[in-house]
Amino acid sequence: MNSQTNLAADLRTRGCAVCNYVINTARDFFAQWQYALSSTKEAQESFAAELGFCPLHSWQLHSMSSPWGESAGLAILAEEISNLLVKAANDDASASTLRTIPRTRKDCRVCRMLTEEESDYIGRLGSFVSDKLGRRNYERSQGVCMYHLACLLSVVSHATREFLLATASRPFQEMAQQMRQYVAKRDALRRDLISRDEEDAHLRVLTHLVGAKDCNRP
Ligand SMILES: [Zn+2]
Ligand SMILES: [Zn+2]
Repeated sequence: MNSQTNLAADLRTRGCAVCNYVINTARDFFAQWQYALSSTKEAQESFAAELGFCPLHSWQLHSMSSPWGESAGLAILAEEISNLLVKAANDDASASTLRTIPRTRKDCRVCRMLTEEESDYIGRLGSFVSDKLGRRNYERSQGVCMYHLACLLSVVSHATREFLLATASRPFQEMAQQMRQYVAKRDALRRDLISRDEEDAHLRVLTHLVGAKDCNRP
């Protein structure tokens, strides 16, 4: 499948295609990394040398690891931290040294990787919507979230920006209407008449406004 076909398929989501891509990329990475960390000394040593990940990605790794895998994977890191603390004990600036030990988003490998993947995907989506066929696909989609729309606007031509902005408002208008219909049908005890669009409109509003729930943007 070429990337054009992938993007057309990605845009069939009810959420944001870019958020989904970031979520899936992170998920694939953690699935692979938690396995490597639990089973190879090389991964354990490199994880210790880089002092782990930022708080967000440490907990994401945790949620995908077993207690056994994490115990096998983090022992060398724990020793590394212990050694750094011994050194800090003889250091006048120990408080500020300690603050540099936990990784932040700036020096987390996963944050860096996801930022690169995300901007690469935005670039591909930008060229996709710059031609006629891509636009037709995008028009039929529910669009991307607000944050990713802003990213997209910064990589396309003036004409494509106009197109993207012109198509951005309609879905929110429709979702407003669908949520009202959902409430009216629930109030009238006509639950059986509720459509799929009415059922998940409230979730789609949030996803398109603030991004997907599990999209921990770097
Ligand atoms: Zn998004
Ligand atoms: Zn991170």
